[in-house]
Amino acid sequence: MTMQPITLDTVLGWIRPSILRLTPYSSARGEFSGQADVLLDANESPFDNGMNRYPDPKATIVREALAELRGIDPSWITIGNGSDELVDHITRVFCEPKQDAVIYSPPTFGMYKVAAGIQDVRAVEIPLTPDFQLPTNALLEAADEHTKILWICTPNNPSGNDFPRHDVEYLIRSFPGLVVVDEAYIDFLDRPSYLERIAEHPNLVVLQTLSKGWGLAGIRVGAAFARPEVIRYLQAVKMPYNVNSLTQQTAAKALRNPEHMQAQVDLILAQRHRLEAELPRLDVVEHIYPSDTNYLLVRFREAEQVYRYLQNNGLVVRSRTRDIHCAGCLRVTAGLPEENDRLLELLAAYESTVSA
Ligand SMILES: *Cc1c(COP(=O)(O)O)cnc(C)c1O
Repeated sequence: MTMQPITLDTVLGWIRPSILRLTPYSSARGEFSGQADVLLDANESPFDNGMNRYPDPKATIVREALAELRGIDPSWITIGNGSDELVDHITRVFCEPKQDAVIYSPPTFGMYKVAAGIQDVRAVEIPLTPDFQLPTNALLEAADEHTKILWICTPNNPSGNDFPRHDVEYLIRSFPGLVVVDEAYIDFLDRPSYLERIAEHPNLVVLQTLSKGWGLAGIRVGAAFARPEVIRYLQAVKMPYNVNSLTQQTAAKALRNPEHMQAQVDLILAQRHRLEAELPRLDVVEHIYPSDTNYLLVRFREAEQVYRYLQNNGLVVRSRTRDIHCAGCLRVTAGLPEENDRLLELLAAYESTVSA
């Protein structure tokens, strides 16, 4: 199949007409640029408690810090209240309710489906192969002119594997719609990000987050990287002050110290390797899937009972037993050394209770 490369104009043509026409809410601080000594424009309180002013709607300090770290221009970045919010923004910009569709391969991250449901667009599910690989040709065959978005989560949650680069690149080149590559776990592996490809492929959007490797799930910062012309529309649908001032300050500060993040990531990865080595020695453990992340998908004998036993003893993991290809599987995040000790102890104790 030979295909014309997708142009920026084609991508802009997929945007919903109502969004193309939209005049975004114009905030007081957004309209003004320059140096001001007196701010009487936003009906804020004048009493300086450090938080009496509205946040920067564009999260400039976060975008600039991220731009420097990733070696791109800030105009190619928008910041969300978590990448969850960006999943919703992308769906709303491109998908017409009751008409359009999105496509993704379960088992995968749940928000793609939720965002489609909220927008009342069809969620087309083409499962991964049983060994958790992308069904590339089936995805292409399932796409029609209403299929606006292909979600690719790599490394994939919950399976933990990073898809082969040639499969992802093939889909970016061949899919007749937007391809969003969710790189929530990019900090745990050392391949280049797909954001290197956004200049060449106007239909590509890359998502990253500060929630995992950066250890900042509580402040809610996600980033979408795309062509500035696409970013503009993602910003047009967001709430004006979606990223608060405390979050912006904390994120910008963290992003200036990637060595700190890397040191923590290294420790977590060492713990994951330890779990990979020790879990198979247990009889209840049937299989551990290869992981490129900070968690392991583990197939257990008696997964439901193991899950409840752990929970009754104050340790919670995520049950994935109902997901396709995940029968008997629990997803376990690599924690601190002593937390992983506790997991291994409890599993050993479970075995001795059952065999006794
Ligand atoms: C954790 C996770 C996210 C992060 O969501 P935030 O809203 O940024 O916390 C996004 N995608 C996947 C696949 C995840 O596992």
